[in-house]
Amino acid sequence: MENMANKVARIPNLVDWSTGEVRLMSAKCGSCGTCFFPKEHYQHRPGCSREGVEDILLPSKGRLASYTIQYYPCPPPFKTEKKITPYGIGLVEFKDQNIQVAGIITDTDLKSLKLGMEMETTTLTMFSNEEKQEVVTWAFRAVK
Ligand SMILES: [Zn+2]
Repeated sequence: MENMANKVARIPNLVDWSTGEVRLMSAKCGSCGTCFFPKEHYQHRPGCSREGVEDILLPSKGRLASYTIQYYPCPPPFKTEKKITPYGIGLVEFKDQNIQVAGIITDTDLKSLKLGMEMETTTLTMFSNEEKQEVVTWAFRAVK
């Protein structure tokens, strides 16, 4: 397991590592059963009464449903201290929750990417803050 003690999320309520695995913070609608991300997303289904919404954590692992490779830096306000280009953006499907989430692909040979391959949720260090903490966002990597 990664040492997450010195990491802090760039934006709250998106990614959780309190269980020992890195997992995305989703929510499930009690009215229509839709899972959505971010969990504050209100327009998950037009006309839904949105009753009984409960927070859930997505599984740490999903499957690569689509991807693209970017050869230019992420546009601001996204910033990283280290150069990460070229980098992949993967669309990862969590089948049981019927949801796909996009994220940067890290720690993975981009030439090895194949649709359907197993991916796990991880974090990407963007930069260090004044308290010397690593400021992170979620990312995906190939399961080794
Ligand atoms: Zn709903």
